[in-house]
Amino acid sequence: MKAVYLDDTGLSVRDDLEQPTLQSDEVLVKVLKAGICETDLQLVKGYMQFQGVLGHEFVGIAKTGKYVGQRVVGEINCHCRQCAYCRNGLGNHCPNRTVLGILNHDGAFAEYVAVPQVNLHRIPDSLCDDYATFVEPVAAAFRLQEQLPLDGDETIIVLGDGRLGNLCAQVLKLAGCEHLLVVGKHPEKLAILREMGLQTVVLNQLEKSKRADIVVDCTGSPTGLPLALELVKPCGTVVMKTTVAGEHHLSMAPVVIDEVTLIGSRCGPFEPAIDALAGGRIIVEPLINATYPLDDAPLAMVKAESPGAFKILLEP
Ligand SMILES: [Zn+2]
Ligand SMILES: [Zn+2]
Repeated sequence: MKAVYLDDTGLSVRDDLEQPTLQSDEVLVKVLKAGICETDLQLVKGYMQFQGVLGHEFVGIAKTGKYVGQRVVGEINCHCRQCAYCRNGLGNHCPNRTVLGILNHDGAFAEYVAVPQVNLHRIPDSLCDDYATFVEPVAAAFRLQEQLPLDGDETIIVLGDGRLGNLCAQVLKLAGCEHLLVVGKHPEKLAILREMGLQTVVLNQLEKSKRADIVVDCTGSPTGLPLALELVKPCGTVVMKTTVAGEHHLSMAPVVIDEVTLIGSRCGPFEPAIDALAGGRIIVEPLINATYPLDDAPLAMVKAESPGAFKILLEP
């Protein structure tokens, strides 16, 4: 089987891998398309010390299990369903979990991926393969609606005009948030957000004052959190939405002095993400730059990291 493999020697495309061995609860999925995510770029830089097949944003066809022959997307956390976290509905925090393409489980930049049956969601015919690869990151954006008590009146600043920043801004707008500003470095990416009806500002023209009730950091950069702390009002909330391979070096005193609530935010619910994408309420068309075959994955990863890129897809 062909797959994009990461180990201490770096990233390579291999065609000598066995098809995934299925655990008793797992289904074999033939991958149709997969998306390259900021997390994949961070993994290549050493985040999580992951070794194995990369890839966690995918759509495929179930080859076994109860959805056999149907198009599916998959939640990425494979939990034990027995521990106290799992029994209390916090499976994403199961200490025994593996995570597709991120932690002790091969991912979807491959011809086939093994996914627990319970993680799979069927997708409607109205959702094309390309858009379906966005279900996982859109679900991550919907996590904001679960974690924040939004009433629509709050002032919100989203830091980052990339893939996740764009999707988070769209999800917040969908939740009725009217006072929403997206900060970015790329005029062409900000233009896409404005076409979606969102307010934007270029970073170097941003007025740095403590004026936001909520700041969502989607920069994928260690500079995002300190900036968020400059923008959040006392008693406000900062949501850390991206993972960074490096370490944060910042003074935490402002968090204490301003009594800021810091919220970590990761994976979210798939069903509202599928509904919103299928219903055209979340727009991803302008976010797709190109599709590469698996063989060209190293080039595709370079493209995904280039400043102008949003989403690069891989097609086995
Ligand atoms: Zn991702
Ligand atoms: Zn568990």
